[in-house]
Amino acid sequence: MSQPERPRILVVEDEPAQREVLAYNLEAEGYQVSRAENGEEALLLVAEDAPDVIVLDWMLPNVSGIEVCRRLKVRTETRTIPIIMLSARSEEVDRVRGLETGADDYVVKPYSVVELMARVRAQLRRTRPASVGERLSFEGIVLDPETHKVLRDDKPLKLGPTEFRLLSTFMEKPGRVWSREQLLDRVWGRDIYVDTRTVDVHIGRLRKALCQHGGDDPLRTVRGAGYALG
Ligand code: CA
Repeated sequence: MSQPERPRILVVEDEPAQREVLAYNLEAEGYQVSRAENGEEALLLVAEDAPDVIVLDWMLPNVSGIEVCRRLKVRTETRTIPIIMLSARSEEVDRVRGLETGADDYVVKPYSVVELMARVRAQLRRTRPASVGERLSFEGIVLDPETHKVLRDDKPLKLGPTEFRLLSTFMEKPGRVWSREQLLDRVWGRDIYVDTRTVDVHIGRLRKALCQHGGDDPLRTVRGAGYALG
């Protein structure tokens, strides 16, 4: 069973030993890791799995890492996924080229695993702050992922575990509209069969919990699309 909330990292590396070392270290950090050994496979996996961060080798057979990066960065659905490029080339000109294709970060081989893990965390801090323990706040609501405490206007809120995960998903991207399927995936995990109506039930509980000391309902139902915070 995959655990919800754990960030998904896609490792794209054609060298099996290097791929495994990377994946092993990322899994040891608690991430869900998927592996691709070439560019085509990477593009397919991104389409079906929407990773939170991609660690992408520059030198790949056929479709190069740069090409993969370029294709992902021109598509609206994938352009916000952070990409960390790996390369054996250390020349400044290549570094610039790597960043010009839209890569979010660039690491030169041989890299230290500790450094790479720090770079991955830095990208997650931007895109999935709760997953790396950052406190989230939105209009008087404060959520602490480490203590699992939620305050609204300084008053503690009682939330069930599912409502907590729902709220942290919303608070990572205020304003974003989440479909029921996306919420199921993120909050319940993809390997569990849950009816989409279950989402509505828990949204109802979350709304009640958020307003337990009064205040307006900060969740918005977007007809035909899903739910959003704010
Ligand atoms: Ca390679």
